[in-house]
Amino acid sequence: MRLLVTAGPTREYFDSIRYISNPSSGKMGCAIAAAAACRGHDVTLVCGPIEVEPPRGVRIVRVVSADEMLKAARSAFTKADTAVFAAAVCDWRPVRRSARKIAKSQRGRLVQLAPTPDIASTLGRAKAGRITVGFALEDHDGRAHAEAKLRRKRFDAILLNAPAAIGGDRAAIHFLCRGDPWADWGELPKKRVAERLVNWIERAVAIGRAGRHTGGKAGPASGH
Ligand code: C5P
Repeated sequence: MRLLVTAGPTREYFDSIRYISNPSSGKMGCAIAAAAACRGHDVTLVCGPIEVEPPRGVRIVRVVSADEMLKAARSAFTKADTAVFAAAVCDWRPVRRSARKIAKSQRGRLVQLAPTPDIASTLGRAKAGRITVGFALEDHDGRAHAEAKLRRKRFDAILLNAPAAIGGDRAAIHFLCRGDPWADWGELPKKRVAERLVNWIERAVAIGRAGRHTGGKAGPASGH
Protein backbone atom coordinates (compact mmCIF):
# COMPACT_ATOMS: atom_id res chain seq x y z
CA MET A 1 0.00 0.00 0.00
CA ARG A 2 1.02 3.61 -0.54
CA LEU A 3 0.84 5.53 2.72
CA LEU A 4 1.10 9.23 3.45
CA VAL A 5 2.05 10.19 7.01
CA THR A 6 2.16 13.76 8.32
CA ALA A 7 4.32 14.32 11.39
CA GLY A 8 5.76 16.89 13.74
CA PRO A 9 4.84 20.50 14.42
CA THR A 10 4.67 23.38 11.98
CA ARG A 11 6.24 26.78 12.50
CA GLU A 12 4.44 29.97 11.66
CA TYR A 13 6.80 32.93 11.44
CA PHE A 14 5.99 36.56 12.25
CA ASP A 15 9.43 37.91 11.36
CA SER A 16 12.61 36.53 9.85
CA ILE A 17 13.52 34.44 12.92
CA ARG A 18 10.58 34.30 15.35
CA TYR A 19 7.64 31.95 15.10
CA ILE A 20 4.79 30.29 16.98
CA SER A 21 4.73 26.52 17.21
CA ASN A 22 4.18 23.69 19.69
CA PRO A 23 6.42 21.05 21.35
CA SER A 24 5.49 18.11 19.10
CA SER A 25 8.55 15.90 18.61
CA GLY A 26 7.34 13.97 15.55
CA LYS A 27 8.03 10.65 17.31
CA MET A 28 4.57 9.19 16.70
CA GLY A 29 4.46 10.01 12.99
CA CYS A 30 8.01 8.72 12.49
CA ALA A 31 7.16 5.49 14.33
CA ILE A 32 4.14 4.95 12.05
CA ALA A 33 6.20 5.63 8.93
CA ALA A 34 8.91 3.24 10.19
CA ALA A 35 6.44 0.48 11.05
CA ALA A 36 4.79 0.72 7.63
CA ALA A 37 8.13 0.78 5.79
CA CYS A 38 9.23 -2.27 7.79
CA ARG A 39 6.23 -4.12 6.40
CA GLY A 40 7.27 -3.25 2.86
CA HIS A 41 4.81 -0.42 2.22
CA ASP A 42 5.59 2.64 0.12
CA VAL A 43 5.66 5.52 2.62
CA THR A 44 5.85 9.28 2.16
CA LEU A 45 6.53 11.17 5.38
CA VAL A 46 5.68 14.87 5.24
CA CYS A 47 7.22 16.33 8.35
CA GLY A 48 7.60 19.69 9.99
CA PRO A 49 10.76 20.56 11.96
CA ILE A 50 11.18 17.41 14.05
CA GLU A 51 13.61 16.54 16.82
CA VAL A 52 14.07 12.91 15.88
CA GLU A 53 15.93 11.34 12.98
CA PRO A 54 13.31 10.33 10.39
CA PRO A 55 13.24 6.60 9.60
CA ARG A 56 15.12 5.04 6.73
CA GLY A 57 13.32 3.51 3.79
CA VAL A 58 10.66 6.23 3.51
CA ARG A 59 10.33 9.22 1.18
CA ILE A 60 10.80 12.32 3.32
CA VAL A 61 9.42 15.73 2.44
CA ARG A 62 10.47 18.40 4.92
CA VAL A 63 8.28 21.43 5.38
CA VAL A 64 8.06 24.31 7.85
CA SER A 65 4.62 25.94 7.78
CA ALA A 66 1.07 24.60 7.64
CA ASP A 67 0.66 26.00 4.13
CA GLU A 68 3.75 24.11 2.98
CA MET A 69 2.56 20.95 4.72
CA LEU A 70 -0.80 21.15 2.94
CA LYS A 71 0.91 21.58 -0.42
CA ALA A 72 3.26 18.62 0.11
CA ALA A 73 0.57 16.40 1.65
CA ARG A 74 -1.86 17.20 -1.17
CA SER A 75 0.70 16.12 -3.73
CA ALA A 76 1.53 12.87 -1.88
CA PHE A 77 -2.17 12.17 -1.24
CA THR A 78 -2.92 11.98 -4.96
CA LYS A 79 -0.62 8.93 -5.17
CA ALA A 80 -1.58 7.39 -1.80
CA ASP A 81 -4.30 4.94 -0.89
CA THR A 82 -4.08 5.59 2.86
CA ALA A 83 -3.09 8.55 5.01
CA VAL A 84 -2.30 9.00 8.69
CA PHE A 85 -2.44 12.58 9.94
CA ALA A 86 -0.13 12.58 12.94
CA ALA A 87 1.16 16.14 12.57
CA ALA A 88 0.53 18.73 15.27
CA VAL A 89 -0.22 21.48 12.80
CA CYS A 90 -0.19 24.99 14.28
CA ASP A 91 -3.78 26.16 14.37
CA TRP A 92 -2.97 29.81 13.66
CA ARG A 93 -0.38 31.77 11.76
CA PRO A 94 0.55 35.44 12.04
CA VAL A 95 -1.31 37.48 9.45
CA ARG A 96 1.81 39.48 8.66
CA ARG A 97 5.40 38.29 8.45
CA SER A 98 8.13 40.88 8.54
CA ALA A 99 10.96 40.11 6.13
CA ARG A 100 13.36 41.53 8.71
CA LYS A 101 13.87 40.82 12.39
CA ILE A 102 11.56 43.12 14.35
CA ALA A 103 13.63 45.31 16.67
CA LYS A 104 13.30 44.60 20.37
CA SER A 105 11.47 47.27 22.34
CA GLN A 106 10.00 47.73 25.78
CA ARG A 107 6.54 48.20 24.34
CA GLY A 108 4.07 45.36 24.05
CA ARG A 109 3.25 44.01 20.60
CA LEU A 110 0.06 42.56 19.19
CA VAL A 111 0.41 39.74 16.68
CA GLN A 112 -2.77 39.13 14.76
CA LEU A 113 -3.35 35.47 13.96
CA ALA A 114 -5.37 33.83 11.20
CA PRO A 115 -6.36 30.15 11.08
CA THR A 116 -4.15 27.79 9.12
CA PRO A 117 -5.64 25.29 6.66
CA ASP A 118 -6.86 22.04 8.17
CA ILE A 119 -4.89 19.49 6.18
CA ALA A 120 -6.85 16.41 7.27
CA SER A 121 -10.21 18.09 6.55
CA THR A 122 -9.09 19.48 3.22
CA LEU A 123 -7.78 16.14 1.98
CA GLY A 124 -10.65 14.28 3.67
CA ARG A 125 -13.11 16.08 1.44
CA ALA A 126 -11.38 14.53 -1.58
CA LYS A 127 -10.57 11.14 -0.03
CA ALA A 128 -12.62 9.02 -2.48
CA GLY A 129 -11.81 5.43 -1.53
CA ARG A 130 -8.78 6.21 0.64
CA ILE A 131 -8.50 5.14 4.28
CA THR A 132 -7.64 8.09 6.51
CA VAL A 133 -6.68 8.04 10.18
CA GLY A 134 -6.24 10.96 12.54
CA PHE A 135 -5.22 11.80 16.06
CA ALA A 136 -6.90 13.79 18.80
CA LEU A 137 -4.95 15.21 21.70
CA GLU A 138 -7.38 16.29 24.40
CA ASP A 139 -7.19 17.33 28.03
CA HIS A 140 -10.93 17.08 28.74
CA ASP A 141 -13.99 15.34 27.25
CA GLY A 142 -11.59 13.42 25.03
CA ARG A 143 -13.94 10.84 23.58
CA ALA A 144 -16.66 13.37 22.69
CA HIS A 145 -14.13 15.67 21.00
CA ALA A 146 -12.47 12.79 19.17
CA GLU A 147 -15.83 11.48 17.91
CA ALA A 148 -16.67 14.94 16.54
CA LYS A 149 -13.26 15.09 14.81
CA LEU A 150 -13.70 11.64 13.31
CA ARG A 151 -16.93 12.81 11.68
CA ARG A 152 -15.82 16.34 10.77
CA LYS A 153 -12.53 15.24 9.19
CA ARG A 154 -14.05 12.11 7.63
CA PHE A 155 -11.51 9.80 9.31
CA ASP A 156 -12.03 6.04 9.22
CA ALA A 157 -10.39 5.81 12.63
CA ILE A 158 -8.98 8.12 15.28
CA LEU A 159 -6.45 7.67 18.07
CA LEU A 160 -7.15 9.68 21.19
CA ASN A 161 -4.28 10.52 23.50
CA ALA A 162 -3.49 13.02 26.23
CA PRO A 163 -0.99 15.92 26.47
CA ALA A 164 1.38 13.65 28.46
CA ALA A 165 2.18 11.91 25.16
CA ILE A 166 3.81 15.04 23.68
CA GLY A 167 7.52 14.50 23.26
CA GLY A 168 7.47 11.18 25.14
CA ASP A 169 8.20 7.63 24.00
CA ARG A 170 4.89 6.23 25.23
CA ALA A 171 1.23 7.12 24.76
CA ALA A 172 -2.03 6.03 26.38
CA ILE A 173 -4.32 5.42 23.43
CA HIS A 174 -8.06 5.07 23.04
CA PHE A 175 -8.87 3.89 19.53
CA LEU A 176 -12.10 4.47 17.64
CA CYS A 177 -12.88 2.91 14.30
CA ARG A 178 -15.96 4.30 12.57
CA GLY A 179 -18.99 2.20 13.44
CA ASP A 180 -17.29 0.30 16.28
CA PRO A 181 -17.15 0.90 20.03
CA TRP A 182 -14.10 2.54 21.61
CA ALA A 183 -11.12 0.28 22.37
CA ASP A 184 -8.70 1.11 25.17
CA TRP A 185 -5.19 0.11 24.07
CA GLY A 186 -3.68 1.15 27.39
CA GLU A 187 -0.31 2.88 27.67
CA LEU A 188 2.19 1.60 25.12
CA PRO A 189 5.52 2.56 23.58
CA LYS A 190 4.84 4.68 20.46
CA LYS A 191 6.59 1.99 18.42
CA ARG A 192 3.98 -0.54 19.53
CA VAL A 193 1.11 1.92 18.90
CA ALA A 194 2.48 2.34 15.38
CA GLU A 195 2.65 -1.43 14.77
CA ARG A 196 -0.93 -1.89 15.97
CA LEU A 197 -2.13 0.94 13.78
CA VAL A 198 -0.37 -0.44 10.72
CA ASN A 199 -1.98 -3.85 11.45
CA TRP A 200 -5.36 -2.15 11.57
CA ILE A 201 -4.76 -0.24 8.32
CA GLU A 202 -3.61 -3.38 6.53
CA ARG A 203 -6.79 -5.16 7.58
CA ALA A 204 -8.91 -2.13 6.65
CA VAL A 205 -7.36 -2.05 3.19
CA ALA A 206 -7.79 -5.81 2.82
CA ILE A 207 -11.49 -5.75 3.53
CA GLY A 208 -12.04 -2.60 1.46
CA ARG A 209 -13.44 -0.66 4.32
CA ALA A 210 -13.00 2.76 2.69
CA GLY A 211 -16.11 4.64 1.72
CA ARG A 212 -18.35 2.67 4.09
CA HIS A 213 -19.21 5.63 6.22
CA THR A 214 -22.66 4.68 7.32
CA GLY A 215 -21.53 3.29 10.66
CA GLY A 216 -22.70 -0.10 11.84
CA LYS A 217 -20.99 -3.29 10.95
CA ALA A 218 -17.80 -4.98 10.01
CA GLY A 219 -14.35 -3.51 9.92
CA PRO A 220 -11.03 -4.53 11.36
CA ALA A 221 -12.41 -4.20 14.85
CA SER A 222 -10.59 -2.13 17.42
CA GLY A 223 -7.05 -2.75 16.22
CA HIS A 224 -6.03 -5.61 18.50
O1 C5P B 1 -8.62 19.68 15.25
P1 C5P B 1 -7.39 19.00 15.78
O2 C5P B 1 -6.13 19.78 15.55
O3 C5P B 1 -7.49 18.53 17.20
O4 C5P B 1 -7.31 17.66 14.91
C1 C5P B 1 -6.29 16.75 15.03
C2 C5P B 1 -6.15 15.94 13.77
O5 C5P B 1 -6.27 16.74 12.60
C3 C5P B 1 -4.78 15.31 13.68
O6 C5P B 1 -4.92 14.10 12.97
C4 C5P B 1 -3.98 16.37 12.92
O7 C5P B 1 -2.84 15.84 12.26
C5 C5P B 1 -5.01 16.88 11.93
N1 C5P B 1 -4.85 18.30 11.58
C6 C5P B 1 -4.46 18.66 10.31
N2 C5P B 1 -4.36 20.00 10.00
C7 C5P B 1 -4.60 20.95 10.91
C8 C5P B 1 -4.98 20.59 12.22
C9 C5P B 1 -5.08 19.25 12.52
O8 C5P B 1 -4.22 17.79 9.47
N3 C5P B 1 -4.49 22.24 10.57
